[in-house]
Amino acid sequence: MKNYKIAILPGDGIGPEIMAEAVKVFRLVEERNDVTFELIEADFGASAYFKCGHPFPEETIAVCDAADAIIKGPIGLNHEESKKIPLDMRPERGALLPMRRRYNTFANFRPVFLPKSLGHFSPLKAEIIGEGIDLVMVRELVGGLYFGDKEEGVNEQGLRYVRETLEYDEEQIRRIMHEALQLSMRRKKVLHNIHKSNVLRSSVLWNEVLGEVAVEYPEVEVKHILVDAAATMLCLNPCQFDVMVMENMFGDILSDQGGGILGSLGLMPSECKGPEKSYYEPSHGSAPDIAGQNIANPYSMIGSVAMMLESSFGMLQESKNVWSAMQSVFADGYSTADLSKPGGSVKMINTAEFGDRVVTALRAMPKVV
Ligand code: NAD
Repeated sequence: MKNYKIAILPGDGIGPEIMAEAVKVFRLVEERNDVTFELIEADFGASAYFKCGHPFPEETIAVCDAADAIIKGPIGLNHEESKKIPLDMRPERGALLPMRRRYNTFANFRPVFLPKSLGHFSPLKAEIIGEGIDLVMVRELVGGLYFGDKEEGVNEQGLRYVRETLEYDEEQIRRIMHEALQLSMRRKKVLHNIHKSNVLRSSVLWNEVLGEVAVEYPEVEVKHILVDAAATMLCLNPCQFDVMVMENMFGDILSDQGGGILGSLGLMPSECKGPEKSYYEPSHGSAPDIAGQNIANPYSMIGSVAMMLESSFGMLQESKNVWSAMQSVFADGYSTADLSKPGGSVKMINTAEFGDRVVTALRAMPKVV
């Protein structure tokens, strides 16, 4: 019997609500497989700051250090509430980026998936969705502007200024390219490289290093597209994409657009992979506008469980089963409020009901032998 320690960080806003559904799935996976999960809950984000005085407290660091994998809910507050926390203690600066740095989770995988049968969830027309949207954004997660040196002050003209640095070294680029190219090899062998080399020197180096690394993957066709054009093409022709690789800030923005073309950010799970361990999280934020109402879509959180089963524990078939169980809830005509349009045919269910239906569907599937 395998035993894995998993750090559970429910986070802020809708985090605890959608994490509760993920925990239901972990418990059922235990029942169905020769595995036990030690689920250890810890504080993280704004809630941790208000409770313990730090958004990534020492106790949480210890839990995460000892874990085989980490699953976290979204963190953060709305604009006004954020002001109650000093700048450096705010959830992203004080918890999220430090966690990414601590575990060096350089490769962020964000699947953007919508089968043809669920095309009605998308704001895009049926002819654009075609046979369905199925791509993965690979985002570099520990470099670039978000991690570069920062400086602010008053310049010689007496004007307030700020300077933030976008820095990558070739090794940082090389390792994300290997991840993207290896993923392309397992999929359609086409990689779209997202860049801005007509303006940014960082993109010139990015493209050069990709050229060097791609030689090792001659079967993969590499296509280059400027980030602004990629944003347009995600709306006009998303089906041309299979694997897309991009630097940190481009990935932050384009992956939210990925959620947009699916119809909801609630459909966006992710893996953040480091050399020793990965953490898993929805791509979206804490959705303060709907928190505490039991209406959030837990797909992104349960999808993060599925990604963990495959990537951290090698439970490929059970991971597929979790994905199928979630799809079957939609196929039965149910969805949470984010995907239910007024006057549409979708039967609206709440967060807990969605999780319960996933559990029922998974329970009905043949066990992995
Ligand atoms: P958001 O992603 O929280 O919400 C954007 C919109 O999507 C909202 O209308 C929200 O209701 C909806 N939405 C998001 N997830 C949903 C779900 N699972 N089901 C249904 N609807 C969902 O973006 P925001 O409002 O700009 O940010 C809120 C907070 O989250 C901010 O403090 C921000 O900094 C933080 N944030 C955290 C992370 C993270 O933890 N990794 C990522 C992004 C934003």
